[in-house]
Amino acid sequence: MKFFERIFKRSFLAQCGHKTLIRDWVFAFGEGVMTRVPVIDGKVYYCHKCLQKMAIRCAWCGKTIFIGDAVTLYAPKEEFEIPEHAVPYEKNSNRLVGCLRWECALSGADRAGFWMPPGKVERMPSPIETALGTTDPIVFFEDVSNRNGKVSFSKNPK
Ligand SMILES: [Zn+2]
Ligand SMILES: [Zn+2]
Repeated sequence: MKFFERIFKRSFLAQCGHKTLIRDWVFAFGEGVMTRVPVIDGKVYYCHKCLQKMAIRCAWCGKTIFIGDAVTLYAPKEEFEIPEHAVPYEKNSNRLVGCLRWECALSGADRAGFWMPPGKVERMPSPIETALGTTDPIVFFEDVSNRNGKVSFSKNPK
């Protein structure tokens, strides 16, 4: 059995205190994605249940934004009625976290960052190079390793 097949069958005690598999489903707001949790120095920081709790809804279309999803940070027009589920980029920011779905983002180049644990936007300074492929949750944590150590999950799973 290959290393990665083996590691996917093992369960880990995550730092959040729950047992978790490396790859499992995360469900929130009626949607689900297969998500791989990062393993850093043999440690898993969050289980899928905890990642699930960090999911939010897009300010514009109301669909789910999971941990690892690419996000936009548009500022609403004055007449826009901000829905209750909308999440501001930061406290007192007038920008709202939105998804990068076709029908929602004006362009993939509007990607402003990623929705990251424990529930914040990790800004990406150069939106073009990795583009839309990063919304795939399976490749997401691989991509994280390419972020030059800007995020806490900066090492490859071993
Ligand atoms: Zn947990
Ligand atoms: Zn949306």
